[in-house]
Amino acid sequence: MASIKIKVDYSKCNIEKPEDCTECLRICKPKVFIATYMDKKNLFDPKVWRVIPRFPKLCTYCKKCIEICPKNAIDIVISEKYQKKLAQLSS
Ligand code: SF4
Ligand code: SF4
Repeated sequence: MASIKIKVDYSKCNIEKPEDCTECLRICKPKVFIATYMDKKNLFDPKVWRVIPRFPKLCTYCKKCIEICPKNAIDIVISEKYQKKLAQLSS
């Protein structure tokens, strides 16, 4: 099956507010990541913010987010079929 999974290890990525780090979000051209709050009841607590890979299917597997992440918190697992699909799209 063609699949792509983007995982962020939140024990390493511990941004506390939207303006912290977000290097992955800024470098990703297709805009796979978003910064969002995780607790609707507590919007003004900066510790509820996270960067999440909201749109993994837009990923072109350029690996720039992995390379730039200062915490080594991003892992992308991509199937062979998906890699072939991406190669076809870029040729
Ligand atoms: S590998 Fe590239 S396209 Fe995919 S999420 Fe990372 S920066 Fe974005
Ligand atoms: S680049 Fe790494 S540490 Fe920075 S927000 Fe993204 S996942 Fe977190």
